[in-house]
Order: sequence, then structure tokens, then C-alpha cells
Amino acid sequence: MNNTGLHTVHEKQVKRYRKDPEGLLKWIAENLPLEKVVMGTGFGPPGIVLLDMLFKVTRDISVFYIDTGFLFDQTYDLKTQLEEKYGFEFLRFSTDLTPAQQEQKFGENLWEKEPDTCCNIRKVLPMKDALKNYDYWITGIRKKQTSVRAHANLVEMEPRFSVIKMNPLLNWTHDEVWDYIKEHNLPYNVLHDRNYPSIGCKQCTSPVCEGEDERNGRWKGMNKTECGLHKMVGDEKQTFKDN
Ligand code: SF4
Repeated sequence: MNNTGLHTVHEKQVKRYRKDPEGLLKWIAENLPLEKVVMGTGFGPPGIVLLDMLFKVTRDISVFYIDTGFLFDQTYDLKTQLEEKYGFEFLRFSTDLTPAQQEQKFGENLWEKEPDTCCNIRKVLPMKDALKNYDYWITGIRKKQTSVRAHANLVEMEPRFSVIKMNPLLNWTHDEVWDYIKEHNLPYNVLHDRNYPSIGCKQCTSPVCEGEDERNGRWKGMNKTECGLHKMVGDEKQTFKDN
């Protein structure tokens, strides 16, 4: 993917959809080559909302997830529920390195000693694999989730994965996401009802206390808020100022 794709999106002035995720998904379905578009989800609440909106608009865009091998049973249950509800199957991407092989190679509990290395092996490299045949990547990130995501834009070039990243829910709030889930009676991870607002791998996710930010339970006690899938890439990153 080069900047041509980015300009294709820009010319169509998608910024009018900054608070209208379903409108942006409709625009994508009508204007982009759908065999080159893919959505990724980690099964968080924004991903559930986006999936529901996507399937109202089109069934022709594939949806994938990264299976780290360390997801909660409740997350796998949610995946099954969603597949049954919408009658489809997620594409699954994962490292070939089993947890046992990882331990043999790097020692015990790599996620404690070198979480960036662990995330790179189990998330970032499979993500490269997941995106390699696509030009457009739809994500469920929101600005309010982390300081890194606060700098994201509705549409931006992601040079690490050579795709145009599209973030339809970027300007939605936590409450808007949850209002949509309740209003449409959508399934969600039952751990959210047990003080887990943000859920990743078992080893790196903890419940939060009242008043803490929603991602405080991720990599608790470490100076880390992102797994490397949604990173600012300094000067390499190219965006349209949509907000
Ligand atoms: S979230 Fe934790 S266990 Fe999962 S890939 Fe990253 S460091 Fe490893």
C-alpha cells in the first residue's frame, strides 16, 4: 500500500463521519475494494459494536482476531457466541511458537521480564501476517482509551503494517459504546461485569478498582499501556486531521 490509497480515502472526505461510525462503514462498503478491506477485533466492547454495525452494512468484509494462546476462556466463549449470532467465522492468526516453546526459548514468564518481546511474538508478528494481503484495516480503537490512542485519527497510514488504518469509533465515548451494546442486546465478555473493563491475555490483565481508568488493569505495575498493535510511529505516521 502506498499513499494512493490514503488519498483515495481523503478525496471522498470521510471526515464527515467522525461521529458516525455506521456512516463510515457504509462509505467503505460503497467506495473501497472489499477484498482489500479487513476488520480486526480483540473482542472488546467497541469491537462488538463495530461488528454489529459492519454486518448491517455488508457481509463482504472479513474479520480476524489474534489468538495469543493466552486469552481468557470467557473471551473464547464470546467469540463462539458472536459466530453463532452472525453466522460467520472469524479468521484466526497466531504465532507458531507454542507457550511451551516460548518458555524453552526465553525462560519462564517472558511477559513479566520482557512484555514487549512477548507481545511482539504473540501479537505484532501475527498481526503482520493478518494484514499482509489487505490495504485497509478497520479497528475499534477510541481516542479516550490511552494517551497513544488520543493522537490517532479517523484515517491514517500505518507504515508498520503497510495499510490504511480506519478507526470509525475513534470519537465515541465509553458510554456511547455501552449504550449501543445494551440497546441492541449484544453479547459481551462476562468479565466486564467483574471489574475487568479492558481484557487481553490472562497473565497481563487484572481487575480495576473503582475510579481507575479502564486500561489500568492491563500490564498492571508496568510502564506499558499498549501491546504494540496501535502505536504512534513518530514522523512516519501520516494522517488527515479529522478533528
Ligand atoms: S499481553 Fe502479556 S501474555 Fe499477552 S502477548 Fe503481551 S506480554 Fe504476552
